[in-house]
Amino acid sequence: MTVLLLGGTGEARALASLLVQRGVPVLSSLAGAVREPRLPDGQVRIGGFGGVDGLVDTLREEEIGCVVDATHPFAARISTNAARAAHAAGVPLLRLVRPGWDEHPDAARWTWVDDLAAAGRAAAGGGGTVLLTTGRHGLAQLRDELDEVPVIARVVDAPEEPVPAGWQVLRSRGPHTLESERDLLRDNGIRVLVSKDSGGAMTAAKLAAAAELGVEVVMVRRPAEPAGVDRVAEVSEAVAWVVRHDG
Ligand code: NAP
Repeated sequence: MTVLLLGGTGEARALASLLVQRGVPVLSSLAGAVREPRLPDGQVRIGGFGGVDGLVDTLREEEIGCVVDATHPFAARISTNAARAAHAAGVPLLRLVRPGWDEHPDAARWTWVDDLAAAGRAAAGGGGTVLLTTGRHGLAQLRDELDEVPVIARVVDAPEEPVPAGWQVLRSRGPHTLESERDLLRDNGIRVLVSKDSGGAMTAAKLAAAAELGVEVVMVRRPAEPAGVDRVAEVSEAVAWVVRHDG
């Protein structure tokens, strides 16, 4: 039976490789949000399923034996859809999600907020430039509060909508080194860094650089995970779960 792996993260790619090495048939699914995505090993499909019903159809048509939802911690809609569809189709579902940064040594010094609009309010005022590292899709929610503020918006793909005149779009795909993050913050006089609580090591260098340079951090809390879904944090645990459920 094929494993459906809902992806778009480094963990999903790592899991796909390990499962393919073991000879497990894997169908990875990507949203198609990034123009040139890093493709995982094994079979790949790209694009939305068409909501819960479409995902249920895919589970049946592709004869999916189990699903691993390894999507990003902020991709709340697909995780909710996966929980509903797996339940409806009677297919086992595992959530693989990396730990957040709430245990990070500097976490108590950051300003934690519930959403992007609140992040915009927290970052506005006080002079200096704001660095946004929250992705291009959320820029619209930040622009109202930061319209008059000098902003560098770091994104992988260019935003679809025009940004305010005082904003600079910096196209760059991580991972970034501590040295390059330090240079970015210092050379641009960054006063506040806005980040999502994505967790993991790949995007953590910016937080270390901010601590070194005394840059304020505004951190957006994660959305809630769907209830009643088995959850692991490590790729190796997901491999073990698939081996138990596959076939
Ligand atoms: P989202 O809001 O949870 O999902 C929006 C819609 O995109 C879903 O309803 C689904 O469409 C489709 N979709 C999302 N992930 C999919 C997947 N892996 N395969 C097929 N369809 C998918 O997600 P998002 O925040 O826009 O993120 C999109 C993708 O980018 C995710 O797969 C996530 O892992 C990755 N990503 C997100 C972030 C982030 O900060 N949000 C960061 C890095 C990577 P249908 O309803 O039509 O099925």
